[in-house]
Amino acid sequence: AKMEERNALRFYTPKMHADARRRLKLASELRQALQRQEFHLVYQPSVEMKTGRIVAVEALIRWQHPERGLVPPDEFIPIAESLGLIRQIDQWVLQRACEQLRLWDDARLPSLRMAVNVSAGSFSHPDFLASVGQALLASGVSPKRLLVELTESAILRMGEDTERAMLALHNLGVAVAIDDFGTGYSSLAYLKLPAVAYLKIDRSFVTGLPASGNDVAITEAMVAIARSLGLHTIAEGIETESQHEFLLKAGCQEGQGYLYSRPVSPEDIARLLAPRPGA
Ligand code: C2E
Ligand code: CA
Ligand code: CA
Ligand code: CA
Repeated sequence: AKMEERNALRFYTPKMHADARRRLKLASELRQALQRQEFHLVYQPSVEMKTGRIVAVEALIRWQHPERGLVPPDEFIPIAESLGLIRQIDQWVLQRACEQLRLWDDARLPSLRMAVNVSAGSFSHPDFLASVGQALLASGVSPKRLLVELTESAILRMGEDTERAMLALHNLGVAVAIDDFGTGYSSLAYLKLPAVAYLKIDRSFVTGLPASGNDVAITEAMVAIARSLGLHTIAEGIETESQHEFLLKAGCQEGQGYLYSRPVSPEDIARLLAPRPGA
């Protein structure tokens, strides 16, 4: 009977079962990943469209799993969110990113802004402000140089907590960027919140530039809204010269994408920013 049961299970849940098992295993491994120091950060430059100068970097987390290899954040961040582990992870990222900024400062690299992705569960938690303050204090980094990236869908999920958390952050001097702008279904009301100072135009619109009439119209409208509200625009996922040209002409101030650089190690950032010998 035991044998039959096992076979039945296997029969009724072929792929779904394997996926669920993988998720379950990932979940228990995620709990240990922080202690085992399996996370690290890579940094993607953000450039001023007019000059090509690197003005900021975005910290992006990587999980180097001992057996699976590199697990992409799109796979483990949602699991960490559902397990309540995201706060610890986001706090680690904040600290590590601020420390890194300090190390670059100490190496006398040009001053950069640091952007950090934060999930809804971290952002709306009462302790979030304290962990931001702690990361800034420990590193000696000025709050003006830190940018917290929140997706539209995260804002939607937070509901009433959003305004309170944003105001607290604003009072601390840290600005917020609306990440993946244009992909959510929320109202534009939150663009008026004082902490919101940056709009990141989602890659899904940039991809179609300049050939797709719809993407052209939407991108121009987003830049116009940002302009009239005094928000700084950053386009993401720029891969081609013609996308760069279009966005520059449209009035977008900053860009990120493989055209300029993939996310790289801190050493590579230092190399990209160091004055060239003889130059
Ligand atoms: P995101 O914040 O929208 O980050 C941009 C993603 O696009 C990154 O993927 C980046 O590597 C990729 N990308 C950048 N330029 C290009 C390009 O020109 N072409 C293409 N095809 N892709 C480009 P990544 O690093 O895999 O991160 C995926 C998502 O995971 C991020 O999307 C963000 O939502 C989340 N994430 C990453 N790090 C963290 C973190 O520390 N905390 C939290 N809560 N979420 C994170
Ligand atoms: Ca982001
Ligand atoms: Ca984004
Ligand atoms: Ca995204």
